[in-house]
Amino acid sequence: MAKKAKKPNPDRDPKAGVVQKAVKQTALGTKFFEVQYAGAKGLGAFALQNISASTCILREDPILLIRKDEDLVSERDILAAYKKLSPEKKNEFDTLRDDGQRAPDASDPHELASSATTDRGLESLTERVWEQYNSNRHSVSDSRTGINGAGVYHLSSMFNHSCRPNATMNYDDSGTRYFYVIENIVAGQEITFAYNSRTYYMSTEHRSEDLDMDCLCDLCTSPVALREVSDTRRFMLRALYDFIHREDPAGEMPNLLKGMWMHQSTIDGLARLRPQEFPQWTTVHFFVIAKLLEVEGIITDTTITSYARAAVNVVHIADNAGRKVLPPREFENVKLWTQKSEKMARKIGYMDYEGDDRMRRLWYAMREVLLAVGPNGEIPELEKVASHAGGMRGLKRGKDIKGTLRPMDHLKKAGNGGLIDG
Ligand SMILES: [Zn+2]
Repeated sequence: MAKKAKKPNPDRDPKAGVVQKAVKQTALGTKFFEVQYAGAKGLGAFALQNISASTCILREDPILLIRKDEDLVSERDILAAYKKLSPEKKNEFDTLRDDGQRAPDASDPHELASSATTDRGLESLTERVWEQYNSNRHSVSDSRTGINGAGVYHLSSMFNHSCRPNATMNYDDSGTRYFYVIENIVAGQEITFAYNSRTYYMSTEHRSEDLDMDCLCDLCTSPVALREVSDTRRFMLRALYDFIHREDPAGEMPNLLKGMWMHQSTIDGLARLRPQEFPQWTTVHFFVIAKLLEVEGIITDTTITSYARAAVNVVHIADNAGRKVLPPREFENVKLWTQKSEKMARKIGYMDYEGDDRMRRLWYAMREVLLAVGPNGEIPELEKVASHAGGMRGLKRGKDIKGTLRPMDHLKKAGNGGLIDG
């Protein structure tokens, strides 16, 4: 698809010109986007051209990365790290937002513009650096990267949050960030990502509490009726996730399920399931989680791995039942879910960037099994298939899975049974 580079429409707000000019002097952006005035949101990143889904629009190293439990990071750590920065990096750090300051008056464009630059003469260096760190720090301690800590970034901190974002961000082991666009974006459109994935499992009200702001994203400002549908989906997602992973993804009430929406007798019933019945239940749960996330427009590790997990479960159930070939209906599901998982994985750059995180390892191991299913639904010898990736046993302990993440083409050549098209 040929892309025509178009200048974004100038904001109709009369203040925009002044602010934009000030922002432009700092020349923030890449060929894909630039930082602009984003109305009430302050600054934001806007597409400079039409961008198709799966495009990596930014790769950025952290200005500083503290490899330490986030809660234990002290002012002294930050000051020490700051002092070690090169003059250039220091300069980058100095231009970062500082929420500790009085918020700039949005009705005064000059003030808003100068808030993007440095003007903090009166504060002590430690105080200022600490405030800026806290206003801009991003946790890089998620389960995916092997690292535990917090980083501060320059360009990528200019993106605004959305509860239904059109971009996503990955980290590699050194804390480098990769931004991938997950849906087609037109020139002039704002590019957003979710500041934390907890918000995917929260209602509108809960999100604004958690984010500690009135979120102005497209979802939060959509008509009430639409938000209610979304809120219901997210509530279901939260409960299902908790059921499957025994962990509340929105992060506050452990084991949310208990007494919340599922009747105690249902829970007791589930507890009485025979072990061989359990995979069927979890297949349904994984599928519903993936489907709800998909219709909610959320493409994330959980969406991708849940589709794959549901498909792998189906293969395992048939294998355990002594079948050599998947029944036609099951085979159709396995194909469909594999394709969905694969397509979304491409969108968030799973096959693209270097880095060896847990979720991707897990996904690759499952994918290997799915790609080994024959063209008529023949069930592969499961032990053999996943051995190089640590075996299916490794799925439970993703961290321990050893092996190389193989590129897509390698597996396609090896014959994928037609599970993946295009
Ligand atoms: Zn929002």
